[in-house]
Amino acid sequence: MNTPDQPMFAPKAWKLTTQQAELTALARQLGQDKFADRAYQWDQEASFPTANYKDMYAAGLMGICIPKQHGGKGADLLTYALTSAEIGRYCGATALTFNMHVSSCLWSGPLADDLDMDHDTRQLHDQRRSLHYQRILETGAIYAQPFSEGGAAAAGSQAFETIAKKVEGGWIVNGKKIFASLAGYADYYGALCTEIATKGQTPSRANTMYLAIPATAKGVSVEGPWDPVGMRGTVSRTLIFNDVFVDENAPLMPPGVYFQAAKRWPHMFMTLTPTYMGLAQGAYDFTVKYLRGEIEGTGPTKRRQFATKQMAVAQMRIMLEQTKSTWFQAMSEACPNPSKDQILRAWAAQYTTMENANEIAQLAIRTCGGQSMLKTFPLERMYRDSRCGSLMLPWTSELCQDMLGKGCLYESGESDT
Ligand SMILES: Cc1cc2nc3c(=O)[nH]c(=O)nc-3n(C[C@H](O)[C@H](O)[C@H](O)COP(=O)(O)OP(=O)(O)OC[C@H]3O[C@@H](n4cnc5c(N)ncnc54)[C@H](O)[C@@H]3O)c2cc1C
Repeated sequence: MNTPDQPMFAPKAWKLTTQQAELTALARQLGQDKFADRAYQWDQEASFPTANYKDMYAAGLMGICIPKQHGGKGADLLTYALTSAEIGRYCGATALTFNMHVSSCLWSGPLADDLDMDHDTRQLHDQRRSLHYQRILETGAIYAQPFSEGGAAAAGSQAFETIAKKVEGGWIVNGKKIFASLAGYADYYGALCTEIATKGQTPSRANTMYLAIPATAKGVSVEGPWDPVGMRGTVSRTLIFNDVFVDENAPLMPPGVYFQAAKRWPHMFMTLTPTYMGLAQGAYDFTVKYLRGEIEGTGPTKRRQFATKQMAVAQMRIMLEQTKSTWFQAMSEACPNPSKDQILRAWAAQYTTMENANEIAQLAIRTCGGQSMLKTFPLERMYRDSRCGSLMLPWTSELCQDMLGKGCLYESGESDT
């Protein structure tokens, strides 16, 4: 029996709500008791963590962001993020794929409730989303979130090339999504497409549709290999939609609402960070235990007595505290129409989390030493998994820096020409 790990965000110190304290404790227990030991297998085989999903379903976590009136836990972004970070601490691939699933509920749920819709549209949305939520809560359906296409659309600067053509009773979808985490394992693919409602209409970002495409629908296929450096258990293969028909209940958001969300609720793009916040904590935890001689198979030698290692752990702890504080603050500020200052802070927090997770993991390997990077230990996997964070669109580290630099120096409408 393991000694239970301390919370990443101690409820009293971080002023967590009762629900936040309970959900994070649940995730931590699952992570430590079950996910940590299984993580090697998913990574080694590049296979999907099916067993972890069964446990998360049994624990009620699959409906974490489904509104309470629809039978879910009604968690907001911060509550979800804190819970997911505890999962990422033990298995990065489980936390990252969990993010894709949860985002479908968070965006169609609490986030959509904050956005503008007329009365009839809101009613229809409520009816449609209840179907998605029932599938998740009653039959354990898993939702994926394939947006990326390899071009500028996932970066937010052009319309998606996956097209949803309006037809009688629904849409016909054609397109290709790369890096579709959960490919072959999800029951529904929550794909972003550009709706073409009338013949000859020019594709526009304003007409982005967020459609749940059944994995079993005719014309859906998964192709290509999946053998990446990290996050191997996400199984992010390529998805092809070839004349796939989806019916009127497929939208996870009404037409136009995703576009509104991307503009008015920008913290929606921070949902990828909890995984990496957890990885940063995991790499730090490992280092402390390793240097204290507490990791099975490395003891009883202690390494903590060396001043250089103490300095390195201090540096890691400073980075970890900086990351946690910035991340927690930005997450807790998520709301519709944030101020410019809040958006700049969100970009800074995204950058900090994604970059520091990998920096902390590499410091951990350097500090612990040669044996620590053997595959018998989780550290080298954390190092590889954490490398992926800064690549995730639309808020890659590069794009965050780019937007921050411009945002700090220019006010809306200003130019130098
Ligand atoms: C482990 C893992 C899991 C993933 N899972 C999913 C998933 O489930 N769903 C999903 O949708 N995606 C997922 N992704 C994809 C991810 O979000 C990115 O879309 C992907 O990594 C981009 O790869 P790329 O080589 O096309 O990137 P890039 O070439 O870096 O970017 C693609 C395009 O974005 C624009 N762009 C990039 N950088 C800049 C810049 N600095 N300035 C201006 N424009 C820029 C350019 O138009 C460029 O052609 C995953 C990625 C990883 C690593």
